[in-house]
Amino acid sequence: MTATVAPATAPYRFFEVHVVRSRRLGPSMVRITFGGERLTELVSGGRDQRFKLFLPQPHQDRPVFHDTGDGWYTAWRAQDPAERAVMRSYTLREQRPASGEFDVDFALHGADPEAAVLSGGPASRWAARARPGDRLTVLAPAVEDNGGVDFRPPAGTDWILITGDETALPAIGGILAWLSPGTRAEVWIEVGHEDDRQQLPTFADAEITWLVRDPAATADHEPVLDALRAADLPEGTPYAWIAGESGTVKAVRRHLVRERGFDRRAVKFTGYWRRGATEEELLAELTAGTATNDKD
Ligand SMILES: Cc1cc2nc3c(=O)[nH]c(=O)nc-3n(C[C@H](O)[C@H](O)[C@H](O)COP(=O)(O)OP(=O)(O)OC[C@H]3O[C@@H](n4cnc5c(N)ncnc54)[C@H](O)[C@@H]3O)c2cc1C
Repeated sequence: MTATVAPATAPYRFFEVHVVRSRRLGPSMVRITFGGERLTELVSGGRDQRFKLFLPQPHQDRPVFHDTGDGWYTAWRAQDPAERAVMRSYTLREQRPASGEFDVDFALHGADPEAAVLSGGPASRWAARARPGDRLTVLAPAVEDNGGVDFRPPAGTDWILITGDETALPAIGGILAWLSPGTRAEVWIEVGHEDDRQQLPTFADAEITWLVRDPAATADHEPVLDALRAADLPEGTPYAWIAGESGTVKAVRRHLVRERGFDRRAVKFTGYWRRGATEEELLAELTAGTATNDKD
């Protein structure tokens, strides 16, 4: 399973961006709007368009990052981990080429969303305290048809199944906005709080079920899996898109393929994060070729 991959530079490009504004969407989500000089050259493919953020270390006011062209990844890895920019994967929630802006929705994770500036990882903490003018580097697409869009239902698909948690919510919003009128979609979204639920505009015939985590539940409680097991699924040929915590993603995929008879080629699954592992650790596993790969 692909948790995170350093993307090829082309057709991606580096952009210097700054925070234009930030707004809380709910207790555990913040929307940050970015602007920058060359953003008319950024072209999102929509849906679950992924890109890379390069964040400053806590003691820096801008990321230490050198755009060395195609060799950027090797150069970045060779830098001192305490000084080099922190690299993280995110989703382009919405791009507005006319105003040269784009939005990214960050899940604020950690024990207590109110204390998010202190808890969670570097990206979550950065987002919780981001202010207008704060600077970042991003590696983002420069052409619409790029390798960072995974949601690609094949011809002949009768209906769509989507599951995810709050980290996948931006992608799910992008996918729902992209679906053609009348497309049948069954969607399950797990969030931490009632107030993290969002309006997700779509022309699709979408049934969206919000699953609010019980704070008293143990870590192995699987609201998405439980809801899916109890669901009556439509007839016809499905295409599934699953993202969120890696263990949940694997369990959902296994359920769909083994117990529901989904064609494994019609199940796109991506671990967006793994409990107990930072993105550096996941990247190190991939680089060393030791990443767990669920082929069932
Ligand atoms: C293709 C792709 C697209 C993504 N898009 C988005 C997006 O649009 N919005 C978004 O919020 N996230 C998104 N993510 C997930 C995000 O990259 C991870 O959550 C990332 O680990 C956050 O970085 P961090 O520095 O905050 O935490 P890290 O330093 O990576 O991790 C620190 C600790 O926090 C834990 N952790 C990480 N994420 C969470 C979480 N959500 N809840 C609870 N614990 C967590 C880790 O297990 C680790 O123990 C995406 C991931 C991928 C691969």
